[in-house]
Amino acid sequence: MIYENGVEPFQNIKSENIILEKIAKLKYKLADKIIILGHHYESDDLIQFADIRGDSFKLSQEAAKNKDKEFIIFCGVKFMAESADIISSDFQKVIIPDIEAGCPLADFASLNDVEKVWKEINSIVNEKIIPITYINSTANLKSFVGKNGGSVCTSSNASKIFDWAMERGEKIFFFPDQYLGGNTALAKGFDKKNIILWERNKKFGGNSKEDILNAKIILWDGYCSVHKRFSIEDTYRLKKKYPKIKIISHPECNNEVIKKSDEFGSTGYIIQTIENSPDGSVWGVGTEQHLVNRLQQMHPKKKILSLSKVGNQCATMSKNTPEKLLKVLENLDNGKIINQIIVKDEIKKYAKISLERMINITTKS
Ligand code: SF4
Repeated sequence: MIYENGVEPFQNIKSENIILEKIAKLKYKLADKIIILGHHYESDDLIQFADIRGDSFKLSQEAAKNKDKEFIIFCGVKFMAESADIISSDFQKVIIPDIEAGCPLADFASLNDVEKVWKEINSIVNEKIIPITYINSTANLKSFVGKNGGSVCTSSNASKIFDWAMERGEKIFFFPDQYLGGNTALAKGFDKKNIILWERNKKFGGNSKEDILNAKIILWDGYCSVHKRFSIEDTYRLKKKYPKIKIISHPECNNEVIKKSDEFGSTGYIIQTIENSPDGSVWGVGTEQHLVNRLQQMHPKKKILSLSKVGNQCATMSKNTPEKLLKVLENLDNGKIINQIIVKDEIKKYAKISLERMINITTKS
């Protein structure tokens, strides 16, 4: 695919046909035992083998629903596979094609750091604080949230989870993505002066005690480097070139980009909105490049461009390849399990509470 500036900066890595044929055969052979889940940001060559495609919320729901297969092969990043292990049945085993496929956003918040800040905030304020973790976080943070009366959220249900939290407490402590937390709070009408950022290398996170007492939303200072790369200049450039363009962005983008976007929402929302738009529509999309390319292929009568000139690819999602999926399947066929993701029982107990809480809040209302 050639981009609007005439270059081809993004390579959708192609695997040899022989690899793809072997995967198809083994998938058929092992069909009674395996289910393959695939995140939208994976490459075409890999996601074609997914029984179910989705964003993090849909895939966590599917992991909770599909109780009959012994092996859940998760083509996504590690925190997603951990969530699947937490929420699936005890006899099920979760496997990831590349055990190194992590998420740099999730790595922004460690349990130690979060506990330290939690104590510090609670030593200053007397009000009830509800912790909320974005699903893009490690299992032990989901456990922390479960223990402390909070919930997990995804980009598709953050608004509902904020409502739920504010019915139960006076403040929200949100981690690790400052942009999802900030964009959600602003869209819900929270005043900017009641939203503070906690910068970990500064005393009181760089805030005064008064700021902390007045805050309604306290944000961790993490971000997704893929979505952070979209800029307000990208929106100006595309709007100038395509006056009828509509910009749609993921809430992990910064607030300047969100403000200039016609729509914003989760990956699932982006897909649905573009699907429902009339032929001839022109879209500038602020999310991961594999998905943008796929949307263009699926809707040839619409023009679908990346918001970025060069396309933004998630390098860790791309660690999962058909070759690595084949290795997983060949091993399973030989009775061996490789790359299993196991969340320890003591972490699982409370992490399950916070994940199930999220699913219940979202599906009930
Ligand atoms: S796109 Fe961003 S949030 Fe999603 S897996 Fe990649 S680094 Fe993590």
